[in-house]
Amino acid sequence: MSPHLRHVCHTVGTLEVPDEVSLIYTISGCPLRCPGCHSADLRDPDLGSSLDPATFASALDRYRGLASCVCFLGGEWQPASLIELLQLAHARGFSTCLYTGHDAVDDAIAVHLDYLKLGPFIAARGGLDRPGTNQRFLDLRRGVDLTHRFQRHGSRALDLAA
Ligand code: SF4
Repeated sequence: MSPHLRHVCHTVGTLEVPDEVSLIYTISGCPLRCPGCHSADLRDPDLGSSLDPATFASALDRYRGLASCVCFLGGEWQPASLIELLQLAHARGFSTCLYTGHDAVDDAIAVHLDYLKLGPFIAARGGLDRPGTNQRFLDLRRGVDLTHRFQRHGSRALDLAA
């Protein structure tokens, strides 16, 4: 296996991290097996291309001034590679975020994060936008839970559908 994380794509979005424009990396090789996983194709660890530090740094330089945060969808299963990229992002002035299916991450990773989404996907409880979700989105810098920021639209959608 490559010593570096592999990614299938990167996009820019405003929904994943409140009040940030995020450069979002979808990482392949998720080892979890959440029933009802919405991204089962991402379980293949050989999918996509290597996200080596030089490639990543080049992308950060292209998006400097356009994006304010880098958000990794997965990658905690290769902590050394992930930490190296988080450090690069911080050094270039980007905030950092990790979406993980675990309920906690190692402190060695967390100290390099500004935002953290926790929790496996449980179909009956839904994602962050559902009032009954098991997942949590945390602002680690301020020590606050921002999960409610994802739920206004979800609640409204439920209300309208009722
Ligand atoms: S953490 Fe996400 S990608 Fe991984 S198995 Fe669970 S739902 Fe699928």
